[in-house]
Amino acid sequence: MTESIYEKIVEVLNAGIIVLEKDGCILTWNQWVEARSGISEKDVKGLPILDVLPELQNTRIARSIKKALEFNCPSVLSAKLIDASFPLYKEQITSQRTPERLVQSIQIKPFYQESDATQHCVISIYDISSADLREKALRNQSTTLNRLVGKLQDKDYELKTLFQNTQNSILIFEPNGQIVNANPAATSVLGYNRAEILKYRIYDLISSLSPSDFSDDPSDTSKLAKALPTKNGDVEMIATGKDKQSIPISVSANVIPYENQPTRFFVFFKDITEKKRAEQRLDRLARYDSLTRLKNRNSFIDTLEVSIQQHNRAGDELSIFFIDLDRFKAINDRMGHEVGDALLVAAADRLNMCCRNTDTIARWAGDEFVLLLTQQSQNRSAITVAEKIVKAFEAPFIIDNREIHSSCSIGIAKFPNDGNDADALISRADHAMYQAKNEGAGTFRFFTNEMNERMQKRLKVESELRRAIKREEFVLHYQPQVNVKTGKLSGVEALIRWQHPTDGMVYPDAFIEIAESCGLIGNIGDWVMATALEDAASWLKKEGAPLKVSINLSPKQFVDEGLVSKLKKLIDSVGVPASSVVIEITEGHLMGNTKTNLVTLNALKALGVLIAIDDFGTGYSSLSYLRTLPVDIIKIDREFLIDASENKTSAHIVAAIIELSHALQLEVIAEGVEYISQMHLLEDQGCDQAQGFYVGKPMHLSALGDWYKKEHKQTHSTH
Ligand code: C2E
Ligand code: CA
Ligand code: CA
Repeated sequence: MTESIYEKIVEVLNAGIIVLEKDGCILTWNQWVEARSGISEKDVKGLPILDVLPELQNTRIARSIKKALEFNCPSVLSAKLIDASFPLYKEQITSQRTPERLVQSIQIKPFYQESDATQHCVISIYDISSADLREKALRNQSTTLNRLVGKLQDKDYELKTLFQNTQNSILIFEPNGQIVNANPAATSVLGYNRAEILKYRIYDLISSLSPSDFSDDPSDTSKLAKALPTKNGDVEMIATGKDKQSIPISVSANVIPYENQPTRFFVFFKDITEKKRAEQRLDRLARYDSLTRLKNRNSFIDTLEVSIQQHNRAGDELSIFFIDLDRFKAINDRMGHEVGDALLVAAADRLNMCCRNTDTIARWAGDEFVLLLTQQSQNRSAITVAEKIVKAFEAPFIIDNREIHSSCSIGIAKFPNDGNDADALISRADHAMYQAKNEGAGTFRFFTNEMNERMQKRLKVESELRRAIKREEFVLHYQPQVNVKTGKLSGVEALIRWQHPTDGMVYPDAFIEIAESCGLIGNIGDWVMATALEDAASWLKKEGAPLKVSINLSPKQFVDEGLVSKLKKLIDSVGVPASSVVIEITEGHLMGNTKTNLVTLNALKALGVLIAIDDFGTGYSSLSYLRTLPVDIIKIDREFLIDASENKTSAHIVAAIIELSHALQLEVIAEGVEYISQMHLLEDQGCDQAQGFYVGKPMHLSALGDWYKKEHKQTHSTH
């Protein structure tokens, strides 16, 4: 801004020009002033003029400057009336001669700079020491000054065009709120024509403003400044359109003093109806489940928390239901996601039918729903509602003309008995639901003290596990696997044990599932991988031959994106061949999320490690599906071995698995071999490897070394 002003000032050569900012500081002065005051512009820029020229204090000049800057009033100080003048001199003050002060004609003209919305004033000083000059001054001073200010406000024309064409709605009003101008964008948003709109006061149109924000006294704008945002960006308000409809708008405002006129205000606003709608949509998305249209987890928690507060005061009871569809995963896997989705929608409908409007039903996750019962009474107890739901789910669902049977299991927790906060209540209801499932599904269970004890125990294990990770209380045992034909060690399976400081040796069945559910399995799994590989490396060094180590991976680890790179780093750092590492993943897990599985399996494969399907035979996988997976080894589940030597059917199943696996070029290993009869059976059926107590129990690495030496000798001596 300074530059453009300066350029214009230079045009007016024969007068002194000083431009001041709102606070009376010098924005610029021209060479004429520089020459006659002996003070260069750059030394005074930004300084208050009254500090630079203290002589002016308490003079008419100072008062006129104040008037211009604060009240937008121009002044002309004629030579005759002047009781003070700027300390400017006829001659330059370089000589010793006392120079004579100029007789001055001073005009002070305020102007408003649109570009930065600030008030300024220009002071022009004419030398009227001689009659000749005086006459000239009288003729020129006003026009020159007007031209100058006109130029400074040159943007006015542009502004007018902008005013007419901008997408921003603009209303101009007086301090009392009376509208004096509106641009086409404003009239179109509000639905009035320009003539109509000029009849209103701004608070008639923007309902967020009230008449008490306005004052008939034009200098009193403090209330308005509070009501109308001017500094901190836009504020959302509500406008009222011609049809009395509410229009959400975003408003910014500005004080615009007009030349010789009272202060006016501009209100800029934008119709944000669309934006609001989008926000509402987002909000709905955030609060509702898009598939079932029930509330989602977060909004259920909010509702529950509010209810807890209210009922706390009233002393009422609340029931929280945790509802899980019994066979959903199997249905979803077998019949596809579309059928699964349709089933969830139908289940949500059934739940709705069992409930009242005052109850809150939400989709918790997957096939889990939660229900909050508030208005309970003798004939509408939690039991009656639970019975109703269980019964409603007994009838089959008809989806795609197919009958689908899906019962549900319900767990119920009560406030305040079972917990004081949303988290506790939901987790207890969830716990009770598991109990219902364990007791045969299609039923409901209340949370009980017994469950509470079990839960406390779980929590205890959880906290002890955290400590165990820190203190490395885990140890790996290795169970040998042998070649069925030769009886020679073909590999080992690493099995974790927890050396509990007080409870002694704890087996994985007692803690792996808890570690999975509380997120600690990642740390434990990392430790297992690292330790198993280090042990394999030390075996290689000691025995001179690689030890094939099978490592069990939890499904939670399997979906960890860093898994493959972690494993690669470990293998590289310990220096064992990747082909001596076997990753075991259970069949049950592989059947689920197939796409991600395939990506991870392929990435593991690319590392060169082998992949074994654990507990095979329990997960109902189709063999055609198996063919699409990059696996190397099938581990026949222990179950089939248990009575295979006596029971013909089991023996047939084992034989079929072996045969089919071989047809698919997969190696087969039988787990849980406890008797020599089972060993013979496996040998007859051509099973490749065996693992089990008959072969050897899981043992410490050093014990495995001894076992290896002994077995080795035996096989050498017997063959
Ligand atoms: P799994 O993978 O099926 O492991 C085989 C389990 O069968 C082991 O139990 C083993 O001790 C047991 N076993 C071996 N031979 C026989 C036998 O002849 N008869 C009988 N009745 N049992 C036998 P363990 O060590 O208690 O492990 C149980 C489960 O815990 C494992 O089942 C595996 O799923 C899991 N697990 C063990 N270590 C780890 C680990 O490091 N990470 C993960 N994620 N899971 C592990
Ligand atoms: Ca295993
Ligand atoms: Ca197994």
